[in-house]
Amino acid sequence: PTPSSPPTPPGSRRSRGSPYRVVLLGASGVGKTAFASIFAGAADSLDSDDCELCADELCEREVEVDGDPATVTLMDTWDVETESDWARENFLRSADAFLLLYSVTDRASFLRASELRISLRRFRPAQRTPIILVGNKCDLVRRREVSASEGRTCAAVFDCKFIETSAAMQHNVWEAFRGIVRQLRLRRDSEEV
Ligand code: GDP
Repeated sequence: PTPSSPPTPPGSRRSRGSPYRVVLLGASGVGKTAFASIFAGAADSLDSDDCELCADELCEREVEVDGDPATVTLMDTWDVETESDWARENFLRSADAFLLLYSVTDRASFLRASELRISLRRFRPAQRTPIILVGNKCDLVRRREVSASEGRTCAAVFDCKFIETSAAMQHNVWEAFRGIVRQLRLRRDSEEV
């Protein structure tokens, strides 16, 4: 914690480690930037000054999950398609957890999410990396191409959690961020035993 941080409440994991590094992954156009701006607070009309440290591709802030603060560094705009293999591999290795996004209105993005899941497994075979498969744009009911049950089944096959969201309606986006922190805590706790 920085000197200006409030005292760490009892039971908090915050003092034990560095920020959780969470990466937004997914095909272009699925809503990663929209997720990042909600996280950064830019889409929050009450307070545009929420984010402690924000740059184009990175935003760090404290979020409260189940009564305990957690510091999360969200990494966005990593361009899966254009980075070199080396950069991609390094990036994947440096993250603690992934939100793997697709758009429920775009089947190709759903297939891309599967490919990315397989890449993650290849780069991080030994680790049980927390991943949530996120079906975004669930507000676009009439344009839906991927059903919720397909998403759920895919997540079960890939051994990860699943959530449907709408960044446009700000529905379930924070639920996804909180979910990934819960998984990271569970993993960190089990590593500490
Ligand atoms: P990125 O390429 O993954 O960063 O995708 P963006 O966040 O730039 O989103 C691509 C487009 O989809 C933009 O026009 C967004 O406004 C729109 N978009 C993102 N999330 C949603 C959503 O949940 N619902 C709807 N209707 N549009 C969305």
